[in-house]
Amino acid sequence: MSESIFRNYIAGEWVEGTATVANISPADINDVIGHYAQADKAQTEAAIAAAIQGQEAWQKSGLEQRYSVLMAIGDELIARKDELGELLAREEGKTLAEGAGEIYRSGQFFHYYAAEVLRQMGESTDSVRPGVEIETRREPVGVVGIITPWNFPTATGAWKIAPALAFGNAVVWKPANQVPASAWALTEIISRQCLPAGTFNLVMGPGSQVGDVLINSRDINALTFTGSLETGRKVAAATAVNLVKCQLEMGSKNALVVLDDADLDNAVECAVNGAFGGTGQKCTASSRLIVTEGIHDRFVEAVKARMQKLVVGHPLKAGVHIGAVADARQMEQNLEYLELAKREGGELVYGGEVLQEDTEGYYMQPALFTGTTNDMRINREEAFAPIACVIKVKDFEEALSTLNDTNFGLTGGICTQSLKYATEFKRRAKTGCVMINLPTAGTDYHVPFGGRKDSSFGPREQGAYAKEFYTVVKTTYMRA
Ligand code: NAD
Repeated sequence: MSESIFRNYIAGEWVEGTATVANISPADINDVIGHYAQADKAQTEAAIAAAIQGQEAWQKSGLEQRYSVLMAIGDELIARKDELGELLAREEGKTLAEGAGEIYRSGQFFHYYAAEVLRQMGESTDSVRPGVEIETRREPVGVVGIITPWNFPTATGAWKIAPALAFGNAVVWKPANQVPASAWALTEIISRQCLPAGTFNLVMGPGSQVGDVLINSRDINALTFTGSLETGRKVAAATAVNLVKCQLEMGSKNALVVLDDADLDNAVECAVNGAFGGTGQKCTASSRLIVTEGIHDRFVEAVKARMQKLVVGHPLKAGVHIGAVADARQMEQNLEYLELAKREGGELVYGGEVLQEDTEGYYMQPALFTGTTNDMRINREEAFAPIACVIKVKDFEEALSTLNDTNFGLTGGICTQSLKYATEFKRRAKTGCVMINLPTAGTDYHVPFGGRKDSSFGPREQGAYAKEFYTVVKTTYMRA
């Protein structure tokens, strides 16, 4: 393998690209993590062709082999969580703890789906015609195209790759071009497993080229995408033309409701963790804080005091709570939304400063606005920034209708000690995930994940529900 260029992985071989891209740390723009190959149209098509071959062999390989491969990948990720977590933190900007946690979680996805390999059961029943029996079983969907975003470069790959392989499919993976190192590292682990050539392929490069070939291909059977709403719409439109099965997880504008009777300390932790964890670059982040009048002033003061204790700095430094913003473009977007919130009449009560660290990177203090309303653009568009806006409301009913008044619907949270309000909220929140006395961000790996409205499209991801997307059902009629 070349010393300094990290290559694509196609048909079981490491392959040079037609160009390379430098992977630069957002925490230190003088830290060049490596040069990564860029695939072109022909190479992406070659990866799809290889996957068609590989899938047939993988489907025949037997459950024990699939189980062992997935377990081995999970074991290695968990054993190397600190080393790979550091690489992830360097290239994405999240803290070392967040990076190591993401690698550990990725290992858990592989372990979970290793177990799912052995839980694949069919059904059998009598026909309405005497003497005829019917068997219903799931088969692999075939070749799965996987397109992932930059904010969870390993975990998003893992929660798609693990079920794809578990159910006997082949994969062509296109990671986000800002974070190729994490994708390459996971691919390197997968490349050492006992998989038929072509079962797993990595094609790095821009969405407009590599992604475009994948979403327009007639030769893949399913396409799973996580990213922005704008790109998701393109993916849906392109795959619909070829009637390729499609699953989309996109943006959101999540809210945390804080009622008068909430445990204040817990509500503050939920808000700060949910809004600013991962530098606010989470699809589950609570960028809207909907707070009832009776607790509003105490809550704002307490959140502000808590924010003053947050340390922003180089992701690899000990004691840092918030790392770097992912890149120059995201930083620019954050500052634009900060200005927009001010122009729209929001009062900046804390943060929002651009910070200078020892290394040249993209650092900003998290920001808290009060006096905002739900119709402001800052409360309707996903900023993907460490910016939270407080919306003051009269009571539970106004809080709930404000939470639901959005085009998105991934997660929604409430802090209350009232069983009545918690139950009402659980039933009436129009979101895919509901969090009660918990941050809106932070989900498990063994249960379904996804949203409503513009946040998601197609079958749910994760847990046992993932089989809806990664398999097709076959119904067989038999007369003895
Ligand atoms: P993005 O849409 O810009 O890119 C996502 C992926 O799509 C990348 O790999 C990119 O290269 C590729 N892509 C871009 N244009 C393409 C095209 N024309 N054809 C095919 N592929 C193309 O999103 P991003 O900026 O990488 O990620 C941030 C977004 O992801 C946010 O909106 C965030 O909410 C969302 N996200 C959602 C979830 C979820 O599960 N709902 C999880 C993480 C991130």
